[in-house]
Formats: sequence, structure tokens, C-alpha cells
Amino acid sequence: MVKIKTKIIKIESLNIDMSKLKEAGQAIREGKIVAFPTETVYGLGADALNEEAIKKIFLAKDRPLYDPLIVHINCLEDAMDLVEELPPIARKLGQMFWPGPLTMVMKKSKKISDIVTSGLDTVAIRVPGHPVAQALIREAKKPIVAPSANLFTHVSPTNAQHVIDDLKGKVDIIIDSGETTVGVESTVVDVTELPLKILRLGGTTLESIKKITSKIIIANENEAVQKSPGMLKKHYAPKARLILAEGKNEIMVKNILTAASEYKKEGNKVGIIASKENSDRFSDFLVKIIGNADDLETCAHNLYAQLRLLDEQRCDIIISENFEDKGMGRAIMDRLRRASN
Ligand code: AMP
Ligand code: MG
Repeated sequence: MVKIKTKIIKIESLNIDMSKLKEAGQAIREGKIVAFPTETVYGLGADALNEEAIKKIFLAKDRPLYDPLIVHINCLEDAMDLVEELPPIARKLGQMFWPGPLTMVMKKSKKISDIVTSGLDTVAIRVPGHPVAQALIREAKKPIVAPSANLFTHVSPTNAQHVIDDLKGKVDIIIDSGETTVGVESTVVDVTELPLKILRLGGTTLESIKKITSKIIIANENEAVQKSPGMLKKHYAPKARLILAEGKNEIMVKNILTAASEYKKEGNKVGIIASKENSDRFSDFLVKIIGNADDLETCAHNLYAQLRLLDEQRCDIIISENFEDKGMGRAIMDRLRRASN
């Protein structure tokens, strides 16, 4: 692929410089590709109605065409043009969770090209909550397709440096607005039929959606891959081999210490993803703390950045603690399971 000049633009989230933002919006209108912050992870954006621009995203990320893209819009009403129908439950969930880390899969309208949906008759739509993402969509005056701004199957980017590391020389603009808040991708829910099906666990918890409707289940692996072809098992992975530790806390800690010592003896550099509570016990190894075990929001926020740091420090093996499979912990465990596959 020919290298292109990537412009890096700093924009403060809470004090948006509109002239800089206009430049990025203009670039989207001209068919260029722009990496920008959302509250989940950084996205790589293009005009959702411009096929040539969308092709550039797949090329830059080395993403296969069978992995469909999420369309980002400013408000629920903007979805009307893009879907065949807005089911009443989608309206309800949109009113409750948008803007925010929830993506809804609905029947697509003719406006949406096959390249966006990988030929599926559904389209995935989200209203992001990040002020820079919202302003960019407004300035571009277009819906924006945006997968995560990382190389395909790699760990998603939660700050601009991560995007630079993966995509500098491959995209037109990278907007730097510091760290994202949520730190894992959006929850993807198929709302075309009842019960609703979660195709990807993420930043909106199952528990919070259940407060709105009880008619929701987590799709099994086969179904998720069938309906959402990008949900490959191996995904969200660091370069090092990742091992997810098993067992409840005390047993888990012992399992990690035994395995880490073995790998170290064999000459491997071992990194450990740990909770604050257990971190002291791993001091013989390279430890990265992601948060208190009962503060799963903080753990989700820090997970990807710490995985990337262990890669930068050239670990051969990363062993991660397991986290409680509830609330945001579901998304953390989903990503760790996929990355360790
Ligand atoms: P990414 O933006 O890279 O985090 O990935 C987008 C996710 O949304 C992928 O897992 C896709 O499979 C899923 N997705 C996008 N469009 C659709 C769709 N029309 N139907 C089902 N899943 C989708
Ligand atoms: Mg992705």
C-alpha cells in the first residue's frame, strides 16, 4: 500500500476548536478517512454514503470485506433514512441509551450500500456520546462509518498514540483528543426480532438493557458469527500469546504464579494483567494493574492500554487474571477469551 501523509490534529474534548473540526469534517466530505475519538475506542471514519471512501478503510486496516461496519449518526431521527423500519423497541432503547455505547442492528434501507453491511440486509447503527465524534458527524453532514482504528484483529485503540502506532501513513487525519472513557467497544444488539440478541458484549451492560426489556439474550458463538460475520474467535489480540487464568481468586493467583514461573524458566518474558488487590503477589514479573477487581468500569477503561504496553515491552507471554462475568466484566471476559484463543 502506498504511504500517505497523515495529519495529526489535537482537539480538546471539552473545548472544541471548531476550525480544526471543520477541516476534519471537510476531509470526510471529500472522501478522505479520519480517525477520531468516541467514548468506547477510537474509530476510523469515512462518509457512509461514499463507497470509494469506505474501501479506503478496509485497505488501511487490512480488514476483510466480510466484516461489516457500524454507521455513526447524531440522533435517533437520523436513523430513519438508513433503516427500512425502526422497531418500537429500538426507539425505546435509543431514547434510553443514545448517545452511548450501544449499537443496534436493523433492516437496512436502500441508501446503505452492500460494502457497509458486507452484503447483509441489516445495518448496525450507533449514536456516539463523545463530543468530538458528535461534532465531527455534524460538520461532515453525513453519517460516518467507523470501525475501530486499529489493524484488523489487533487490540482496539483507546488513545491517539495507539492509532498512530497502527495507522500512521495509512489514513488522512488522526484527531487526538486524549483517552477514551469506556475503553471497550459498543454492545451490538440485533433488534430485528424478539428476543433481542446481543451479538457483541460491550460498553452497555446486559443488566442495564434488562431494566428496559426482559426479552433479550446473548447470542451463542455460532449465531453471533453467522449474524455478525466480524465476530471471529481470534480478535482483540495483543502480539504476545495471551493466556486467561482460571479459578477463583486464591487458586487463580497460584495458577498464575506457577504458569508464569514455568514460562520464565523457559526463557520467556512474562507480563501479567492484574487487579490492584493481587498485584503485589506478582512482583517477580512485569505486572500491569487495570483496576480494583470490583471496579469493572475502571478495569475495562484500562485493559487495552495495558495490553498494548506489555506488547511494547516485548513480552512473549501475557497471563491475565479472570474478572467477574457480570456488568462490564462480561465485555472484559469476552475480549480476554477471544484474545486468548
Ligand atoms: P468494529 O467497529 O471493528 O468494532 O466492529 C463492528 C462490529 O459490528 C463487528 O463485530 C460487526 O460484525 C458488527 N456489525 C456491523 N454491522 C453489522 C450488521 N449489519 N449485522 C450484524 N453485526 C454487524
Ligand atoms: Mg474492531
